[in-house]
Order: sequence, then structure tokens, then C-alpha cells
Amino acid sequence: MDNRTMMQYFEWYLPDNGLHWKRLAAQAAELKKAGINMVWLPPAYKGAAGGSSVGYDVYDMYDLGEFDQKGSVRTKYGTREEYLNAVEELQKNGIEVIADVVLNHRMGADGTEEVTVVEELGTDRNQDVGGKQQILAWTKLDFPGRAGKYSAFQWNASHFSGTDWDEAAKRNGIFRFDGKNWNRETDTENGNYDYLMGADLDTDHPEVVGETHDWGKWYLDTVHMDGFRLDAVKHIGFDFYREWMKDMRAYAKAPEHGGGELFIVGEYWAKENAKLLHYLDVTERNLSLFDVPLHFKFLAAATSDGNFDMARLYEDTLTGTDPEHAVTFVDNHDTQPGQALYSFIPAWFKPIAYALILLRAVGTPCVFYGDYYGIPHDGVVPVAKLPALLAVRERYAYGQEHLFFDDPSLVGFTREGDAEHADSGIAVLLTDSVGGKKRMYLGTQHAGKRFVDALGGKSEIVTVQADGFGEFTVDGGSVSVWVAERAGEYLYTHLR
Ligand code: CA
Repeated sequence: MDNRTMMQYFEWYLPDNGLHWKRLAAQAAELKKAGINMVWLPPAYKGAAGGSSVGYDVYDMYDLGEFDQKGSVRTKYGTREEYLNAVEELQKNGIEVIADVVLNHRMGADGTEEVTVVEELGTDRNQDVGGKQQILAWTKLDFPGRAGKYSAFQWNASHFSGTDWDEAAKRNGIFRFDGKNWNRETDTENGNYDYLMGADLDTDHPEVVGETHDWGKWYLDTVHMDGFRLDAVKHIGFDFYREWMKDMRAYAKAPEHGGGELFIVGEYWAKENAKLLHYLDVTERNLSLFDVPLHFKFLAAATSDGNFDMARLYEDTLTGTDPEHAVTFVDNHDTQPGQALYSFIPAWFKPIAYALILLRAVGTPCVFYGDYYGIPHDGVVPVAKLPALLAVRERYAYGQEHLFFDDPSLVGFTREGDAEHADSGIAVLLTDSVGGKKRMYLGTQHAGKRFVDALGGKSEIVTVQADGFGEFTVDGGSVSVWVAERAGEYLYTHLR
């Protein structure tokens, strides 16, 4: 089987011109050629900011760019028709589609309601501030522009457990609705991190459970996507999503709905690996999680002046502890400059980080649009070595893996290759400090074979010895990726 490779096909500052779905459809074949066989698309439904919404300020999840709501028919990315066409084009080209699902909150309500609330301390949402009070909350979502098409469900205050804005007093706060509790099990940051923003869904309410399950099935039937990316899972009752995923998996698996196995990845934004492992336990491993701890290891390694202990890179990461459920990534739309979770990996370390997620045998890697195409908004240029790394992953990164994480700076790994993939087998050497060399085992089947650096940083040729070892080299603060000479020739002629 070929390697699975995902791309997050958006960054925060894409232009608001409604051309994204069209561009994606036009590029489907090119993406596949580049080695991408899975694409994560941004939230496709109407947000409170209408035609300029990135998608996380969810207003109407049935409006995929079809109704005149929030000042626009199309979303930031295009119309419903263009969205469905892009999905079809991707799938025709052998690329699976992962749809972004944001169920935590709603924004841009159509009307307000008087609600009795208890204000909670921002830093400890289990601690009441004063007694009960009345606020005017934005909790009525009637969707007049859609007029009941696809679903007659309308939202009101009873479906939410809290909000952060009192329209009467024009005041911010964390307001828990009287008679409601925060979800029993969510992240423990701020006491209880159920509340994130907007009108927070009460996922204990039977009507909310019913509606979110109905919508999921409607979405599957409408788009026929291959999987989901679940937003902000730490802010939603853990048991809610477990049941939602089970229901969606069973529904998608039915022959009349395509019979496929959904690929689900959740965003649990926490540096602490124990929290991720706990979430996987509670949700009975119905999903994978982004390896957020590994992202922060990359950041630490890239900002420690060569003093990070590379031998311990995978310690307390999902890749190190439950690789089957790890989706590895370097950056995303939240970590890019100017965004909420800003922690962008510095340019010099990007090729190293991408070699680590793309070429190792573990984890499902996700390439960030902003790294592949650049981020013009902030003058971020594309990671020049990404096309070569993707090609090496697709063609040559197969077979048994050997790790050489045995030095604080100079570490590497090899893949022996397999019979299915011609000229496969690679040796990867990298350092966060000064350059050097390392003997690594590639397999006696490669004895006498000549290897070259696919990234072009090193010009010498390494010949694998009779014992299956080769002595590979790397320059300071960089990565070298050694492939068989014939593979090197292929890459040289086929990459720009
Ligand atoms: Ca919540």
C-alpha cells in the first residue's frame, strides 16, 4: 500500500474572493501528482462573517454557499455547487476528502432572548461571581434566509449552556445559563473548558444531540466526504463526540451510504500528551488526534540555539506513544503568524520537521497549505524542499524502519524499502546543531548500492557497505535525505 499523505488545503488569510473551491477543483490532478492523497478542507458552511468568514464562526451548517444569509450567498470559498464539484474532482483523482466539523458553538444569531444566568470567573468556570442575573443573549437562530430547507430545526436559549455577551449591558463575561451545567468531562484548563466562544452548545440536551446527529448524516449524504476533522474537541463533552462518531461511522459504513470507513481526526489543542491519550481512551479510539505535543517539540528544537535534545524528540508525543492515532503536522491555520495559537516553526527548521513527519514510518502527516504555497499576507515563502520530500515519501519511504536517535544533536533514521516500490529505501540524517556524519543500517540487501542526497545539500555519494551500513553526512542545521542513485536521477528529472 502507498503512504497516506494529507494536506490542509487552506491558511487563514486566503483572499475573500470566493474562488477557493474552483482553484481546488482545478488543482486536484496536480495535488495527486505531488503525492497528496487526502485533503482537509476548511468549514464549508456559512459563518457569522458571511462571505469573508474563515468558517469557525459557525452560523448555519446547512448553508454551504446556497442562501442569501449574512450578506452573501457564497462563503469565503465559493458556492455550494463549486464545493460539491471540488469534492468530486478530488475523489475522481484518488484524493480522499476530510471535512471540517465545528459543533462547539454558534455565532451570528438572528435574535436575542432574555436569559437568567450565573456569571463565572474567566479563569475558573466552576466559580460563580455573584448571584443570578438577567442578560440579553444572542441565542435565536431561525435562518430566515434558508426558510426551513433541508431542516426545520431552529435554535433557542434552551439549546445552549452559556455565552459571553450581554447585549443589554453591552458587557463581556462568561455567562452560564441558569439550570445548565458545563459538560461533565471537558479539558480542565480554566476549571472547566466547555465554554470557548459564541453560544455554547448544550450537548446534554436531547434535541441538540438529535440535531447534530441529523446534520452529520445530512452532511454525509450531501457531500460524500471520506472523513472528518473535528474542531475544538477539548471544549465538548468527551462522551458526546464518542457517540456522534460511532453513529457517523455506522451510517457511512452502510452500503446505501457508500460503505466506507471514515477517517476522523480531532483537534485537541494541548501540549500535554497525557491529555491526548486520555481523550483517545474515553472516545474508545474512534479517531486520531493531531500530535500537538510534537508540534511544540519542533518549536522548542527550532528555538533552542542547537541545545535541544534531539534524542528525546518523541518523548511525550502522540507519535511516540500511540502512533496509530497520531496525525503529525508542522503548522496550521491557528499557529501561523497573527493567529490565536501562534507558534509558527521558524523557516530553517521546516525542512527538518517535514522530513520527520513525511519520511518516518509512523503517523499520518498533514502538510500545511501555507508551507506548500506560502502565506503572501505575511511574506512567508513556500518551503522549497517540500515537493522533493513529498515525492520521496510517495515513492521511496517504505519498509522496515531503523531509528538512530542516539545523540543530542545528530539523529537519523532509515527505511529498508520494500519489493512493491522500485528503488525504495532511504536514509535520513538531521541536526539542530553543527553538521556531522553517522553510520546507519539500511539493510544488507543494499550492499554495494550508491546513495545520493535527494535534497541536493550534499554532493558526495555514499556506498552501502557489506554489513548493510552506510556512513551518511549532513550539514549544520539541516537535513539530508539519501536515496538510491536511480531514485535520485528520477527526482532530479521530475521535480522543478
Ligand atoms: Ca462547549
